[in-house]
Amino acid sequence: MEVVVKRSKKRRKTVQARMVEGKMEVLAPASLSEAALKDHIASLQARLEKKSAPRDDAHLDARARYLNRKYFSGDLSWESIRYSLRQERRRGSCNHWARTLLISQRLTGVPQWVEDYVIVHELAHLIEPNHGKRFKALVRRYPLAERAIGFLMAFEMLQPSQG
Ligand SMILES: [Zn+2]
Repeated sequence: MEVVVKRSKKRRKTVQARMVEGKMEVLAPASLSEAALKDHIASLQARLEKKSAPRDDAHLDARARYLNRKYFSGDLSWESIRYSLRQERRRGSCNHWARTLLISQRLTGVPQWVEDYVIVHELAHLIEPNHGKRFKALVRRYPLAERAIGFLMAFEMLQPSQG
């Protein structure tokens, strides 16, 4: 997302953002430090993205491509990645041979960084079908893996029981 910053001496404290022709325009006080402005922009972007980008299969594919570049040097390829309603007891699944990935639809309710962990987990299965040592090392490339696992365990405990 392209960001245009407009600083104003009249502005005292608040930072505001709005979308103008596909760009995020940030209105900030002239006195605000660069570091503080960066933090503001990151959280504003996250909020805007939440509003504008629905969690659909296109989103999932874009996310997987991004994570592939970031954690697998773009080495992985797959046939399809999509949400599934039939993954109630699972977070996702990967058909190693057909190279198709399914992510549970339930995960549209978790924060992006947690869903990213599940995507990284399924992407890692493209290399390693089982959950052995090599697999775990791949998943740990995602720095928030441990936190995401903890989050998911709590999240799943709060879900209605699934028989
Ligand atoms: Zn797995």
